Amino acid sequence: MRVIIIGAGPSGLACAACLSRTGIQPEILERADCVGSAWHNHYDRLHLHTSRGRSGLPFRAMPKRYGRYASRLQMVEYLEDYARAFDLKPQFGAAVETVRPSGTGWRVAHSGGSSDADAVIFATGLNGTPHRPAFPGQASFPGPVLHTSEYRTSKPFLDGHTLVIGFGNSGGDIALDLAEAGARVTLSVRGPVNILPHEVFGLPVTSLGGLRKILPYTLADALFAPIVRAHIGRPRDYGLQEPEKGPAAQVIEDGRIPLIDIGALAAIRAGRIATRRGIRGIDGAQVTFADDTTASFDAIILATGYRVNLAAMLPETPEALDDKGHPKLCGAPGSVPGLFFCSYKASPDGQLNQSGIEARAIARAISNG
Ligand SMILES: Cc1cc2nc3c(=O)[nH]c(=O)nc-3n(C[C@H](O)[C@H](O)[C@H](O)COP(=O)(O)OP(=O)(O)OC[C@H]3O[C@@H](n4cnc5c(N)ncnc54)[C@H](O)[C@@H]3O)c2cc1C
Repeated sequence: MRVIIIGAGPSGLACAACLSRTGIQPEILERADCVGSAWHNHYDRLHLHTSRGRSGLPFRAMPKRYGRYASRLQMVEYLEDYARAFDLKPQFGAAVETVRPSGTGWRVAHSGGSSDADAVIFATGLNGTPHRPAFPGQASFPGPVLHTSEYRTSKPFLDGHTLVIGFGNSGGDIALDLAEAGARVTLSVRGPVNILPHEVFGLPVTSLGGLRKILPYTLADALFAPIVRAHIGRPRDYGLQEPEKGPAAQVIEDGRIPLIDIGALAAIRAGRIATRRGIRGIDGAQVTFADDTTASFDAIILATGYRVNLAAMLPETPEALDDKGHPKLCGAPGSVPGLFFCSYKASPDGQLNQSGIEARAIARAISNG
């Protein structure tokens, strides 16, 4: 059985480890020059929002010394150690361009040549491609405009006024990073936000999925809402719009992860992070918001999320993807035999946990033929 895995992030490594346990040694193609490349490049202050116990990959728990929430550098160390432990040796610098049917299998064309396989596993990440919307007039902005994937530290922003556009997990973390360093920061929040406390009754909120497993998720959301309110209050207490659905419904129905608050709310309440509505337009350094207020900024950070970009790689099998370009089925044999997709559906229990679950299922399906 010849298996190719595209991507040597957590999902690709987990798939490879699970396959190696069944006696199959996959070929791993990775465009970067290291495993876990995303984690080499994330911002410095990043710690996992999910607990250590729910963030390890199959067959190898994270070391206890990482504490409850592993840091970015510990995540890098863990992934490197994981690859060593399972003797996984990706081919680095191999950016996959296309995967096309060939005979009874697949031909994978990449920047280093091409390879044939009976099965191909896509593990290029739910956060694979930064989404950079262009706001009206943005070209006239005189300062730097960068995506969260390019932000490392607050240092370059200490002397100016920075606008962070988007209040998801990266936007919240980075606005807090700037505020804690004493920088002037404004957060543009376009719509309602579902916010969860980092911990509830001393336990990581991402570990409390039990309710959802025994009750319909909308009922679990309703039962959990008073607990969330008791911990952090309501969005309107911070000048934010109230969401129409609960956090689990948002992930399951819309594929959007709620914001897990690690301190941005307290900074908003204390006035160290200002909030404004969505962007109407940009004219030079001046930004106009949806409520017609304006302010002047020195830098813009786009905390506007990521997109999945698989369609270009699958020119001859579009039926594997839905109308948004996401795989129709993840972690299981799909409509196209021999093609598998790992961890492209947002999970309320943490994406790393989901990668492990799907990697085991994919390895099982491949080894059972
Ligand atoms: C800032 C941030 C914080 C997060 N925190 C958490 C958390 O606390 N807990 C949690 O459970 N999840 C978290 N996640 C979500 C998720 O777990 C991570 O994004 C995780 O890295 C996903 O692993 P992956 O292997 O699916 O994708 P990635 O880590 O993105 O790895 C994909 C790999 O595929 C490679 N690749 C892409 N395209 C190609 C190609 N064409 N050819 C060859 N190689 C290619 C990339 O270079 C990359 O190495 C976080 C995500 C972000 C962005």
